Amino acid sequence: MCAARLVEAGHEVVVVDDLSTGHADAIPDGCKFIQADIAAAASGLLAESFEGVLHFAAKSLVGESMQDPQKYWQGNVVTSLRLLDAMREHGTRRLVFSSTAATYGEPAVTPITEDTATRPTNTYGATKLAIDHAITSYADAHGIGAVSLRYFNVAGAHGAFGERHTVETHLIPIVLQVALGQREQVQIFGEDWPTADGTCIRDYIHVTDLADAHLLALANAAPGRHRIYNLGNGTGFSVRQVIDTCRKVTGHPIPANVAPRRAGDPATLVASSQRAREELGWAPERADLEVIVRDAWDFTRLRQES
Ligand code: UDP
Repeated sequence: MCAARLVEAGHEVVVVDDLSTGHADAIPDGCKFIQADIAAAASGLLAESFEGVLHFAAKSLVGESMQDPQKYWQGNVVTSLRLLDAMREHGTRRLVFSSTAATYGEPAVTPITEDTATRPTNTYGATKLAIDHAITSYADAHGIGAVSLRYFNVAGAHGAFGERHTVETHLIPIVLQVALGQREQVQIFGEDWPTADGTCIRDYIHVTDLADAHLLALANAAPGRHRIYNLGNGTGFSVRQVIDTCRKVTGHPIPANVAPRRAGDPATLVASSQRAREELGWAPERADLEVIVRDAWDFTRLRQES
């Protein structure tokens, strides 16, 4: 999605992916593609001169990160250090990094600003925070212009670009699988949370708005500075509200039952993106949950037909 936006904006784009979880057919036309492990390939690749690096690659399943931390410290932190070293070695000037709301853990404040204390509650969030710290040091010492974007709940789709996981764990794709008849029902992980309807509240952000933020971040990265921005819409929706919106958009009854809480889930995560709006000039265009769900639904049906 981001690669497509970069190509549209006139950039020359090289996509590097080992395809361990990605899909070759999601690489847009107009990009050069190299199938490789970043840790092994970074130094050789960056020897050609690049304007910047957008670093998305990561292991990103919270549950797995608790059971197999080595995969996360190695795959996320060690790999990112190799990339930072390659950038230093070859003088690559700009970095945009995919950070996460999971760096904050379970803050008592809402909405969450970039000044909120970072106390990750899982290994995934801890590795992403460690990388953020490393980026701060490298930016400071080596003059790299870096931006970390802390994603809240990314959803929606754009044409053929949408969420496709071998094992789906995210709420909206799961609910839409029920609407398609691929699952019997959706499980609501707890309705005894301290929220208005008892289910967890999250801040859903459309993938195209997220992609736009990356282009703005790349353009705004300033030498020797590491800026961090939260990306969300500033409005929280409960699990029940998400399911109701999916019922409305799909016209399907979507049976739901209440299951126990999922370990590690915070009750409420809502972003303040004031800083991104002010400093990057970011203005999300698809903030409406119904629009986000409708785009995801169009993508889900498109996939089923193909
Ligand atoms: N959730 C749920 N049932 C599911 C999947 C998710 O109730 O089958 C809840 C989950 O507990 C969380 C919210 O939906 O409160 C969003 O979860 P998701 O995994 O999509 O994103 P996360 O917030 O964990 O990054």
